[in-house]
Amino acid sequence: MVNFVEANTRQVQIFAKSETQFFYKFLHFIATSVRERRLNGDRGRAYIKEECKTHLPTRPPYTVLLDAIVEIKGTRNAEDVLRCLLDLTDKMDVTNDEGKQCGNVLVSTVISCCNFNDVTTNYFGASVSCMGWKQRKAMINILCCKTWHKDISWAVCVGNTYNEKAFTFPAGVCSMAFNIYSSAKATEQKQRIERAKARLQRFQMIRSRNIANILEPFGTLVPREPCKYCFIMFPDICFDPSSHSHNAGKWEYGNCAECESLSQLLYSDENIVQRLKRETFTKTPEVLLNEKYNQLKEYLEKLNFNFGNRILYYNNQA
Ligand SMILES: [Zn+2]
Repeated sequence: MVNFVEANTRQVQIFAKSETQFFYKFLHFIATSVRERRLNGDRGRAYIKEECKTHLPTRPPYTVLLDAIVEIKGTRNAEDVLRCLLDLTDKMDVTNDEGKQCGNVLVSTVISCCNFNDVTTNYFGASVSCMGWKQRKAMINILCCKTWHKDISWAVCVGNTYNEKAFTFPAGVCSMAFNIYSSAKATEQKQRIERAKARLQRFQMIRSRNIANILEPFGTLVPREPCKYCFIMFPDICFDPSSHSHNAGKWEYGNCAECESLSQLLYSDENIVQRLKRETFTKTPEVLLNEKYNQLKEYLEKLNFNFGNRILYYNNQA
């Protein structure tokens, strides 16, 4: 019991430190960008407000940071965006109660980017990073009900309910994913990283590996194959790297970075949306989404989040 309490206290301390360090570095990045006129004041204030506590956030903080980087850098070039993200991530490490540097719990473990027939125009996503499984499930439900493009939300619901794909993408959609490690995390996980790199030697596609090599001095990005769930939902995407066996993972449909990046791709290109070949299921998209909304209410109740009659989301356009 004592050990459990101690471990729990340590975890809460690391979370509190992570939160403080994350927002401090994020704020500094936004304020510097506004001062150097790379971002206008209103947009800067909107990003800062999205840390807001009174309404439900509509996406995890690391995803907000990723979006801010794309806007501030003014590019969708994967190398430029990921270099900046890794540099900031490196500065977000915190120390544990033994004074040892460790990673930040608000930093996602996986980053992905995708594009449609144009490698210079990428859309980015981060895996869901939350403390605790209830928070994580609630966040996936929020993303499905409120944030993601309706077709991606539907793909997640169909995956959950039927273990099948909801639609086929037109040819030309490519996706890369990376494990992201700050310097402290990389030191901690050195052996795992070496094993992952050795495994990658088997793959023929090398674009994602090139990006990883360029970024190495700042921390490490290690290319990773899609998990089993992403492969079930989006089997027709060109994944780099890819393999024939797909890791089942200990997460659920919708946890992966791919959902966020593909959602952004669909929001940006109506032409792709028009060309999706949709499957039919007994339960309509409306019914499935309604089930997600009811699950969200249940998780929020379990988390003692008081939402009254109607859930209020934070609106960054207001
Ligand atoms: Zn996945």
